[in-house]
Amino acid sequence: MRKNDQFQIEITGMTDNGEGVGRAEGMAVFVPYTIVGETVRIHIVKVLKNYAVGKLIEIIKPSPHRVKAECPNFYQCGGCQLWHMDYAEELLYKERKVADCLKRIGGIEQPISPIIGADERKYYRNKSQFPVTSDGIGMYAGRSHRLIPIDHCMIQSNITEGIISTVRYWIAAYGLIPYDEKKNCGQLRHLYIRETDEGIMVCLVVTDCKIPNLDCLVSLLRENNPQICSVLLNINPHKTNVILGKETMTVWGKEELKDHLGDVVFSISPLSFYQVNKQQMQKLYDKAGEYAALCGKEVVWDVYCGIGTIGQYLAKHCRQVVGIEIIEAAVKNARENAKQNKLNNTEYYCGAAEKIAPQIIAKGNRPDVVILDPPRKGCDKVLLDTVITVNPQKIVYISCKPSTLARDLKYLNARGYTAEEITPVDMFPATTHVETVVKLVRNKQKYPVQ
Ligand code: SAH
Repeated sequence: MRKNDQFQIEITGMTDNGEGVGRAEGMAVFVPYTIVGETVRIHIVKVLKNYAVGKLIEIIKPSPHRVKAECPNFYQCGGCQLWHMDYAEELLYKERKVADCLKRIGGIEQPISPIIGADERKYYRNKSQFPVTSDGIGMYAGRSHRLIPIDHCMIQSNITEGIISTVRYWIAAYGLIPYDEKKNCGQLRHLYIRETDEGIMVCLVVTDCKIPNLDCLVSLLRENNPQICSVLLNINPHKTNVILGKETMTVWGKEELKDHLGDVVFSISPLSFYQVNKQQMQKLYDKAGEYAALCGKEVVWDVYCGIGTIGQYLAKHCRQVVGIEIIEAAVKNARENAKQNKLNNTEYYCGAAEKIAPQIIAKGNRPDVVILDPPRKGCDKVLLDTVITVNPQKIVYISCKPSTLARDLKYLNARGYTAEEITPVDMFPATTHVETVVKLVRNKQKYPVQ
């Protein structure tokens, strides 16, 4: 096979990144924007050792699930991957992705429960981070840092549109200089927006704090949208792909926003993690609560707790919540949130879970239930080993990456914890990302209680 060859192929599978997979001349070919069951004509754009990449040139037999992409930027922007299929097909793709990963990497063959889909596929995100470059404000194209200017994003809250155009106007009117990552110079790097039920935070990620005409920006933003309740600067002077720097300054308004979930309230500082899809977050936490099945007596560890959300959502159903989180601002929020929620059965520790958990055990604390909600890279082995030594009855694992979940489940499985129930949750419609919640129980036969 060579570059520029053309083939007619059938799409028989999908990659984890949402490309269709077919075969030509015995070789796997990945073709973006195709769907299982389609017959397509492709043009080979790249040939690698184990697979090739094809460009779709003609759909000969379309899938009944093919739809006209609702997003006008879909074929340029790298933000979403699945607008060319209907939502039922997207959910099926995500279920298969979780099941395949668990089987292939984790050796777990048991059936998974149906995915919890979203009521809204559009405008669900409460947090956006748009890069700012000399090409404008927008999103990067897939697998690159080429900016695609965006006016209207189909998955961001629709308040972002007005904010983007105001910031764009302000940049042009006052001659602000966007950051150039190749030359490592310029002032503005990202436009970071977060929306809660209290209001909207607009944060400019900048290389240094000496940004002129910020008062004009504040006036323009507030005129444009009265829901805006804070304008902040986040300082990130480093040559890095990490979006946010460590320091944040308030230009106007509040530094923290509040958000309500059921009868609990959370203050969220700009550097703290908060789930991006509120409707799905509640469904996820409810499923985690169902799996934890608390009766009121348990000590629950909320490991990777962020601002304390899951633990505080469940705190009134257990004896004690012990939270561990590495970001200081988030731990501060978690402690304040416990006070606001009038909870006196919570305790928070700041540091890497793998370092802190053994210290908590040394103090004599033993969990009955452990909730694990790690970042994409999954749990540190030391943390898993530590959890195993204290023998909790149950582990509820919430994962945002099926492959690292599969690796960690395999590890736990070999050490006495069986995945009893597995439910994917669609936290990120139109993208290939999928959240999964798993109930693990201690296998009494193999590891008797000590
Ligand atoms: N459970 C929270 C946050 C989940 S995101 C929620 O649902 O909102 C994962 C969290 O793990 C982030 O807040 C991140 O800062 C934290 N984190 C990452 N690595 C960590 C580590 N080694 N130890 C403790 N926390 C960590």
